[in-house]
Amino acid sequence: MKKYFLFLILFIFPLTSLISADPADQQIYILLGPPGSGKGTQAAYISKEKQIPHISTGDLFRENIRQGTKLGQTAQTYMNDGKLVPDALVIDMLLDRVSKEDCQKGYLLDGFPRTVDQAKAFDSHLSKKSSLKVIYLDVSDDVVMKRISGRESCKNCGKIYNRYFQPPKQEGKCDQCGSTLVQRDDDKPEVVKNRLTTYASQTKPLIDYYQSKGVLIKVNGEQKPEAIWIELKEKILLSN
Ligand code: AMP
Repeated sequence: MKKYFLFLILFIFPLTSLISADPADQQIYILLGPPGSGKGTQAAYISKEKQIPHISTGDLFRENIRQGTKLGQTAQTYMNDGKLVPDALVIDMLLDRVSKEDCQKGYLLDGFPRTVDQAKAFDSHLSKKSSLKVIYLDVSDDVVMKRISGRESCKNCGKIYNRYFQPPKQEGKCDQCGSTLVQRDDDKPEVVKNRLTTYASQTKPLIDYYQSKGVLIKVNGEQKPEAIWIELKEKILLSN
């Protein structure tokens, strides 16, 4: 009898708890913050640390533009003006991406949602097994302007630099692959102004939206990227 219990405790119980432990437990992170708040840089850290895909709706649109798809052509007209692409187009594209196999255990969203309607549409798609954390990178408008005006990225591998804060070793050339660095069309000053206005009126309300749901983690985004990551990592782990 004693042996039977020992067998149950050592082998059967751990096995059943493994089977019933929600295998679909899905950790979803959303990165929220104004343009130039460093979402891309922090996204790379989180994605590596948590081994989950980094999904940027801006990157998905830019990829569609490169490939000349109909979606890309439509999106470009809005992006060139610093305006948001209509919700229906973004939501369809995003839901399609997160339904892929590599997102089953979790994923990180960068640049989505951008409106409360997008957030609500996304909420209704979440299952009970999904756990959501929203990381808000808090940065003032002044700092944002400086960061964006100096931002350039590699045409080939996408690595991001900043002329003032994180310059490449050789001006205009990528440290990683040697390709030319370019400024994004929508990083030009007049477009940036529109993007900031759009952010304030349409995206900022998401801070209250997620705060009231108790899932918001606020981080000081005005520090150096490594320091932001240290604060962020501590807060993510603490909230686990
Ligand atoms: P980003 O790379 O995130 O700064 O996005 C670049 C541009 O893509 C934005 O200025 C918008 O025009 C468009 N975009 C990206 N994500 C979204 C979104 N979730 N909703 C609407 N437009 C978006």
